[in-house]
Amino acid sequence: MPELVFFSGTMDCGKSTLALQIEHNRSARGLQGVIFTRDDRAGAGKLSSRLGLVTEAVEAGPDMDLFGYVVAEIERGCKVDYLIVDEAQFLSSEQIDQLARVVDDLGMDVYAFGITTDFRTKLFPGSQRLIELADRIEALQVEAMCWCGARATHNARTLGGEMVVEGEQVVVGDVNRPAAEVGYEVLCRRHHRRRMTSSSAAFAH
Ligand SMILES: [Zn+2]
Repeated sequence: MPELVFFSGTMDCGKSTLALQIEHNRSARGLQGVIFTRDDRAGAGKLSSRLGLVTEAVEAGPDMDLFGYVVAEIERGCKVDYLIVDEAQFLSSEQIDQLARVVDDLGMDVYAFGITTDFRTKLFPGSQRLIELADRIEALQVEAMCWCGARATHNARTLGGEMVVEGEQVVVGDVNRPAAEVGYEVLCRRHHRRRMTSSSAAFAH
């Protein structure tokens, strides 16, 4: 049976790396997929992982009908066996419904990868809809770590290294540049609640 699978985790837990691995394994078996992404760190139309791998992808813009896109691909003679969707938290709930329809009406597996909650610990709309609709949810096992060594379960947004709790839900920044103006850092819940990032912890000592 085809499935809608949601691979969830914090930032920096290896989601995009796994997405690329799944893509590699299937294409090595002669299968062809469509890769969707939104706001990847490498730019529009790219799926990149922190380990340095990059592949071409289709940028799933806010108004794009993902079901319609796949149907059009098939109609113009392309072979589509499965979908990979990275940064799925940024999709609208309607777009997640379209992915479920791809599974049910077109009989394809859809592998969606995303962050569950934002920097305020609230569910992203795309992730909420995936939790509601997915056949299966996989919490990624490559666990990111807080600066204290505990398992990182929450995403913090930082401004010059200090954690912020207000602002737009989506601001593209990078976990590797926490000192940049807007950055992100993964923390355990305890340190997320105390707003203690690695740089504020270092300062406190
Ligand atoms: Zn911690």
